[in-house]
Amino acid sequence: MNSSLSQISGPYYQVAVNAPLKGLLTYSAPEGLSFERGQSVRLPLGSRSAQGVIFSSSPEPGPYEIKKITEALDEHPRLPESFLRWLDWLSDYYMHPIGQVTSLAFPPLKKGGRARKAETAPLVPQAPMGPQKPPELTSEQKSCLEAIQSHSDFQVHLLHGVTGSGKTEIYLRLLEDTLARGEPALVLVPEISLTPQLVARFSARFPGQVAVIHSHLTEREKTNQWWEMVDGEKKILIGARSALFCPLPRWGLVILDEEHEASFKQDEKLRYHARDAAIVLAKMHNCPIILGSATPSLESWKNAQEGRYLLHQMQHRVAERQMPQIRVVDLRETRRQRRDPEGAAEAEELPFWLSSELYEEIEKTLERREQVALFLNRRGVAQTAQCSACGFVYECPNCAISLTLHRKQDLVCHYCDYTQVMKEDCPSCPDGEVKALGMGTELIEADIARLFPEARLARADRDEIHSRQDLEELIRSVEDRQVDVLIGTQMIAKGLDFPGLTLVGLILADVGFNLPDFRSSERSFQLLTQVSGRSGRHSLERGRVIIQTYNPSHPSVLYSLNNDYAGFAEQELAARQALSYPPFGRLALLRLQAQSLVALDQASDRLYLRAEKLKELNKAYADLQFLGPAPAPLLKLRNKYRHQMLIKAPQPQIIRGFLQQLLEGQKWLPPGTKVQIDIDPMNML
Ligand code: ADP
Ligand code: ZN
Repeated sequence: MNSSLSQISGPYYQVAVNAPLKGLLTYSAPEGLSFERGQSVRLPLGSRSAQGVIFSSSPEPGPYEIKKITEALDEHPRLPESFLRWLDWLSDYYMHPIGQVTSLAFPPLKKGGRARKAETAPLVPQAPMGPQKPPELTSEQKSCLEAIQSHSDFQVHLLHGVTGSGKTEIYLRLLEDTLARGEPALVLVPEISLTPQLVARFSARFPGQVAVIHSHLTEREKTNQWWEMVDGEKKILIGARSALFCPLPRWGLVILDEEHEASFKQDEKLRYHARDAAIVLAKMHNCPIILGSATPSLESWKNAQEGRYLLHQMQHRVAERQMPQIRVVDLRETRRQRRDPEGAAEAEELPFWLSSELYEEIEKTLERREQVALFLNRRGVAQTAQCSACGFVYECPNCAISLTLHRKQDLVCHYCDYTQVMKEDCPSCPDGEVKALGMGTELIEADIARLFPEARLARADRDEIHSRQDLEELIRSVEDRQVDVLIGTQMIAKGLDFPGLTLVGLILADVGFNLPDFRSSERSFQLLTQVSGRSGRHSLERGRVIIQTYNPSHPSVLYSLNNDYAGFAEQELAARQALSYPPFGRLALLRLQAQSLVALDQASDRLYLRAEKLKELNKAYADLQFLGPAPAPLLKLRNKYRHQMLIKAPQPQIIRGFLQQLLEGQKWLPPGTKVQIDIDPMNML
């Protein structure tokens, strides 16, 4: 790295100011003071005072009136060179103001305050079993580990291992190497997987060395953990995506587990993808980065196929534990049988959502005193409430989507939490009756309670689990075998590891198949594989999985049934290539928002005309494709109307220049409308 980059001298400085401004602002130094690149300062901005970070300097002031920096902010450490370059990349790539990107590098409070008593519950739990001796590696683990260890410089490693193949053990061995070299390491996991269970596995191996950062910490906790890393008191930082912003001068290793998880993409403000940002960070620190998953994203898989990433694979679970036995139940068949006179008895006994196959397996599993998990990606009692005479459906007045029934008569909007009471008399026709349609986790729970009155049930969805603490208590009670049947949404599908769990039932695999998103097949495949991976992780006997579906021949079902990730990826990549969707083309999503539909239509028209014009004028943009602007799948969300335009490009470079020109000035936007940019969007709704 070029150390002269950080040698700067005034008297004028270009500062990244924490405000929604495009570039750097020039300030002068107060008499007799000079500043260094990366230093924090306080300065005047309009009539207020703001904070900023020095990026560069110049001998000349430039064309504008120059204000003076107020003072140096010594409570912030100077940001390291590699980190500043990373911030620049983020701002540039995601088209977000550099000052606002830079402000993410600092903790919320001043150094040194103490956490209040109530907050000091152990952030980094020590494993109950005390320090542990590492297990003997399997041969697959050994060869993956050795292949990774042979690179000490920047290299992206994709570790593709089936659920339970022992990826975490490989991370632990690599961390050991890194610590032995005296270097710190960053471990990123999805927010939802960052449980005490997981942290304890790391701290058992590295007692006193682990710091944790995630979004559910108090400001004081976050500040303290941040300083423990920055001051070098702790060497391993485990965190959700925001931990990337802890400004260490050098990382020796970066690990990102469950790399396929969509939650690594931030959905607001700076819309960055933690995986891509972590790769750039590792590159700037010239250290290896490990991406781990049982179901890699197609982006990473393609990179590995083409040799940009090194691929390491583990096909077997450790200790000869077998992959679960998966059975698919065709619900069309179940429904047909129940219409027959002979099947009528069963139809009366079992709820419509429960096949006799799944019912019998639940019964057997409970008899063996083992645990069952039932997944359904829908909350509430019923999907919607609809009038059987006129078809009236209760809708949210803010979001224009149908309301979901909870408990006996509460209708709830799953986007904005609007609620109202359901009346059985239809509000829109004289003699109709409003009835619940479909199902949700609440209904499953009620039916299971009726069928298995002895079983102890727990439900994990956003209605029951409001906080991290709720989730942790639930995990503990399942681990302690106080729960026989766990019922939940995908909240519980991710990464959990319960020794007594030997039967997993997926109530309706079809929920995710047809979402208006080009990744819906990939997400379904991932969910099926992850859900199945929860079963029988610890027993020598095979775990069981039952998938109920109306679409038994859907590729996501077929390939996950055979545990054939590579096969799935191959056919899905071919489909993506035909339409130049990622990972072949690049996408940017422009989202227009307005309070009124009239203004929104006007903004959409103008945006489209500008885009077409630019494309006409510049040959470099000839390959760009525009989809829309069109109403977003959720046209009205939280009382704002939304249109979106998707821009497809063969190369990322083109898209950025194009967007800069397209959105320049924004004077063309009608008053009251806004446009947001999402580069590499993950969420198309
Ligand atoms: P993955 O992350 O690939 O799903 P884990 O790392 O969670 O898998 O490993 C699954 C289980 O196997 C864990 O309980 C872990 O402690 C155990 N394990 C890992 N490696 C070994 C090994 N070499 N020998 C015995 N047990 C192991
Ligand atoms: Zn709503």
